[in-house]
Amino acid sequence: MWTRSGLFSCVAVLFAPLCGFASAPAVAQPAQSPPNLIIILTDDQGYADVGFNGCRDIPTPNIDRIAKEGVRCTEGYVTYSVCGPSRAGLMTGRYQDRFGFTTNPTIDPSNPDAGIPLSEKNIAELLDPAGYTSMAVGKWHLGTHPRLRPLSRGFDEFFGFLSGGHNYFPEQYDLNDLSDVKRQWDWYRTRLLRDNERVDIDGYLTDELSDAAVDFVKRRHRDGPFFLYLAYNAPHTPMQATQKYLDRFPDIPNERRRTYAAMVSAVDDGVGRLLDTLDELALAENTIVFFLSDNGGASNNASRNAPLRGNKSTMFEGGLRVPFAVRWTGTLPAGADYHKPVSSLDIAATIVTHAGVDINPDKPLDGVDLVPFLTGQNRARPHPVMYWRMVPRDGLAIRRGDEKLILCEKDGGRMLFNIAEDQRERNNLVNARGAVAAELEAMIQGWTADFPGPAFPPLGSWP
Ligand code: CA
Repeated sequence: MWTRSGLFSCVAVLFAPLCGFASAPAVAQPAQSPPNLIIILTDDQGYADVGFNGCRDIPTPNIDRIAKEGVRCTEGYVTYSVCGPSRAGLMTGRYQDRFGFTTNPTIDPSNPDAGIPLSEKNIAELLDPAGYTSMAVGKWHLGTHPRLRPLSRGFDEFFGFLSGGHNYFPEQYDLNDLSDVKRQWDWYRTRLLRDNERVDIDGYLTDELSDAAVDFVKRRHRDGPFFLYLAYNAPHTPMQATQKYLDRFPDIPNERRRTYAAMVSAVDDGVGRLLDTLDELALAENTIVFFLSDNGGASNNASRNAPLRGNKSTMFEGGLRVPFAVRWTGTLPAGADYHKPVSSLDIAATIVTHAGVDINPDKPLDGVDLVPFLTGQNRARPHPVMYWRMVPRDGLAIRRGDEKLILCEKDGGRMLFNIAEDQRERNNLVNARGAVAAELEAMIQGWTADFPGPAFPPLGSWP
């Protein structure tokens, strides 16, 4: 297929000797091959629980490498403060409300609509025509019906589980598959899937996911560009870690925090092995690596979102703003901080731009290519306005510039904050600045006006 990057490459090759392009500035260069993409997604990890955001009790030297060798985004947002809808936004690059993914989906494998609808494309499907090989590793949570599973949705390989969480010790995998589920949360006990087959593992789940990710890169990097979606379920509950990782934290007295630290540390080891593999194979300069959490730290896993208010499930910064870093060696600056708001929606827009993939104009992406922003070429805000909507919570939020309006009774009603001056969201300006609040409220009502209703029943409606 004739892609935009292919065209640019040919033009560059033809004219470079004549035009002296060799000393061009360090902006994204059309490469011989489109860049690989790796998304490392953690689950319910707190904003404060990475070294690059100042964490002291849990060293994350490998995760920190992504920020140190790339860009730390201090205001990186997801599109929802719980797992499923956040992943739907990230994976499609579109606000999930556009297609009714308004809540965590039911795990019911007989429901053909409980996931990303077939009318939408996820990143693997977007990249497929450009010759990418894609693998999903870890937590899926984007549909359990056969037509919604990774291999039906653009991925060439899958290793992991379909539900929203999982036990970490394989001796607890005493159910074959979802047909054995009789009660809520039984899905944490199913055997894992390799592609569409149930398989047994013998190691700690986080280590096994890291093994699969490294193995994929080693096996498939010669087949053309690749996309690896590495979705760790750590450090989501249940709190389970092996002695090897627990032993690293003898000085954390709180048992839950200690286990959380061990779970994060296991992820960090895996990230280190993956980055080392990119180095060994000389892939760093042609691989974009994103690291982020799917939502803020939860109230039940001993995570920390300091200095942000709130946590998972809320519309405060602690629910929606996550640890976020991106590395593209040689293209993005190294060790830079970026302070303007960016979004998980930007991952899809960034990769399709550099893979030269055309987007269906009827399904426009809501994100932007981050490269010109992170290199400083474009000094504007990537997102003058960002929106959030949580249907089961009856919550809405908008951030325009630094003004953020929250409309959510469960979080405390109608609140207006200036995030630049008050990132802890302590000083409610809704009365002092009533006109601004009204303006933002009208904007958000307009944004939601054409959205469809929920496309499927929520988590908890089955079995
Ligand atoms: Ca989550």
